[in-house]
Amino acid sequence: MHKLLKCFSILSVLAFVACSSSDEAVDPEGYEGVDRRLWYFFDVFQQEAEARGVSVDLRASGLTGRIGNIDGVNVAGGCNFHGSAPNQIILDATFWNTLSFIQRELIVMHELGHCVLYRDHREAMDVTGRCLSIMRSGLGQCNDGYSETTREGYLNELFDPAFANEITP
Ligand SMILES: [Zn+2]
Repeated sequence: MHKLLKCFSILSVLAFVACSSSDEAVDPEGYEGVDRRLWYFFDVFQQEAEARGVSVDLRASGLTGRIGNIDGVNVAGGCNFHGSAPNQIILDATFWNTLSFIQRELIVMHELGHCVLYRDHREAMDVTGRCLSIMRSGLGQCNDGYSETTREGYLNELFDPAFANEITP
């Protein structure tokens, strides 16, 4: 079995200040089968999960990640669920190259939300129209609000067990 969950981008609503330091904090151990540009964000995911009592082991899972070309208009990334092989994250290279550091963190956290936590998309928004979850599909009506000041709340939501395991691959 094989299933690709596609995630879309709404670039026009993304307007964050870039905090460039993306390639500095690379874990010397790395992640086999994962593009080096994603290692830092995999570390962040692992650490933020542990800080919230969620047990994940990205290395043991065998999850792979690559940055390549994805067919389809505005497809920013996706998670490939494989029945017998480890899941695979794919991010669109053209899209990736337009992103700031924190936008890259958002999209990697999002895809890990699918591939590791088995979260589905969530389009909920507050009264101002701001997305309540970084698991928004990009096709809904809400606006991304992920920033240095809001990330803590978004990560709390991401790792909330109430939303985990919504996807059956
Ligand atoms: Zn998605």
